[in-house]
Amino acid sequence: MNAPATPTDGWPVPKSAYIHVPFCRHRCGYCNFSVVAQRDDLIERYVQAIDLELQTLDRPAIETLFIGGGTPTHLPPPVLDRFLNQVGQRFDLNQLVEFSVEANPEDIDPTTLNVLSDHGVNRISLGVQSFHQSKLNILQRGHDEAIAVNAIEMSAERIGNVSIDLIFAAPGETIEQWTEDLRLALSLPIDHLSTYALTFEKGTSFWNRLRQGELKELGDDVEVEMYQTARAMSQTVGLSHYEISNFARPDRQCLHNRAYWDGRGWYAAGPGAANFCDGYRNVNHRSTTTYLKKVESGVSPISESERITVQQYARERFAFGVRMIEGVDVDQLSRESGIDLRELCGADLAKMVSDGLISDVAERVTLTERGILFADGVASTLLG
Ligand code: SF4
Repeated sequence: MNAPATPTDGWPVPKSAYIHVPFCRHRCGYCNFSVVAQRDDLIERYVQAIDLELQTLDRPAIETLFIGGGTPTHLPPPVLDRFLNQVGQRFDLNQLVEFSVEANPEDIDPTTLNVLSDHGVNRISLGVQSFHQSKLNILQRGHDEAIAVNAIEMSAERIGNVSIDLIFAAPGETIEQWTEDLRLALSLPIDHLSTYALTFEKGTSFWNRLRQGELKELGDDVEVEMYQTARAMSQTVGLSHYEISNFARPDRQCLHNRAYWDGRGWYAAGPGAANFCDGYRNVNHRSTTTYLKKVESGVSPISESERITVQQYARERFAFGVRMIEGVDVDQLSRESGIDLRELCGADLAKMVSDGLISDVAERVTLTERGILFADGVASTLLG
């Protein structure tokens, strides 16, 4: 197959932006993100560096803005105020529909919520992870149930669109504990829920403790039961399962993440942040200090740059798209990308249909119930 140089209508023009704030109170043992803890002395330099990095953009119009981390709300309120103001001025926000900020429940108070709301933040994503004290202790989180519940209720009142993250399959966790976490979460005013099984990433202290036998993984069977419990319980309160790890009320799917999953292009700034612009994926230095030194000395903070082929683009959109419960319209994606995905992936699709992992009906490829449990494997097959 002769692959075209660009997708049918050219590379998508980004309408989304992600800003990475690397600061945290401390590093949780399972965390593998680009994060610095106990380095608040770098905050001022960081705020200036982000402004310098964003100056390289030509004030593009965006529809979704996501400030993630790390912990954006770790910035003291007056600094957060200045930072959000600065970021807002580097984009044309006239068409902005979703402005999300990630937050630690410990940071939520009326002052911080007022700062967020004053800058037009209309979605907050709280890193709750659990309400159970024993699980929070294992995960090394500093809040307790009362702080988390209070943060959700206050955010719902002031911001109005609340998402929370919950982790399951923590060492020692039982189905009963997870069910209690879900029951409490779903009784609160949330619009969106993301649930992730705990993973032990190389380079984290949890990875080392697992290898030393200090921590134990739960078995696959328990993990699957926990996942299915989340799916079943979420439905009962009107949160529909729209992506492998995500549940939302009608019209509350995360539009910013949909831009990633639909391969629509996005800008990004900050340590470790990755953009997808004009057919290139560029990733900034993960180290905050290296990032700062580069930007301050007028050097690009990008550490890796990859030209994406149209074939890769089509495969990635297929692989991310199939993680959406609604699945992928293969003909439409083939038309938009200029790659005949039936020709490119036909044998893999036929095999996955016969293995009961996907259904391929009326041009739409969707995960089966069994495929939902093996979504990572399906996605990696589609990536080729
Ligand atoms: S608060 Fe979140 S980003 Fe920060 S160290 Fe913990 S898990 Fe990582």
